[in-house]
Amino acid sequence: MKHVNIMGIPFLHTNQEDFVSLLNQRIQERQKTFVVTANPEVVMKANEEKEFKQYLEQADYITADGIGIVKAASILNNPLPERVTGFDTMMQLLDVANEKEYRIFLLGAQRETLDKAISKIEANYKNIHIVGSNDGFFDWENNNIAERIAELKPDITFVALGVPRQEKWISENITKFEQGVFIGVGGSFDAVAG
Ligand code: UDP
Repeated sequence: MKHVNIMGIPFLHTNQEDFVSLLNQRIQERQKTFVVTANPEVVMKANEEKEFKQYLEQADYITADGIGIVKAASILNNPLPERVTGFDTMMQLLDVANEKEYRIFLLGAQRETLDKAISKIEANYKNIHIVGSNDGFFDWENNNIAERIAELKPDITFVALGVPRQEKWISENITKFEQGVFIGVGGSFDAVAG
């Protein structure tokens, strides 16, 4: 697949619709997939912090989260089709999950926000199975979240811990999983909760 390199980050040359189709295909094929949607803040951080860059190097796909990256690609004469954000990808994956009756896990945000987001998803996507959830304020060194997810084998795990925690969490735990899409979605649970 074609990539566009911006300050050392290989952005996938795709549009929103094709990217969601690609993720759906990976779910069907049971191919484990780590997704980072990177905005300019992420690119800067990767250039400043070696450890953070190493998290990104584990990702299967990095997409352009925001118009800043799309504009930068254009200036570098290597254009990207459009932005592919964490929020939009999550919302479109929810549509696909509803259609295909996928099983999802939600990790992140305050418990109250998470509960509101779960209620909204349950009300609006009748065929989605929310197989589990955990708020985003857990003891990093001592928890069994990844083990629970490994056992539940959700098709999609949305990780809303903000940057850089979500990338760190996925990259530290990805080897424990056999399948599923893992995507950092920032403040998206707050947006869904309303
Ligand atoms: N968050 C979390 N655990 C933390 C810190 C943040 O679950 O230790 C959640 C926070 O409640 C919010 C989400 O991460 O729902 C995104 O936070 P923020 O807006 O700070 O991140 P950004 O979207 O800017 O990456």
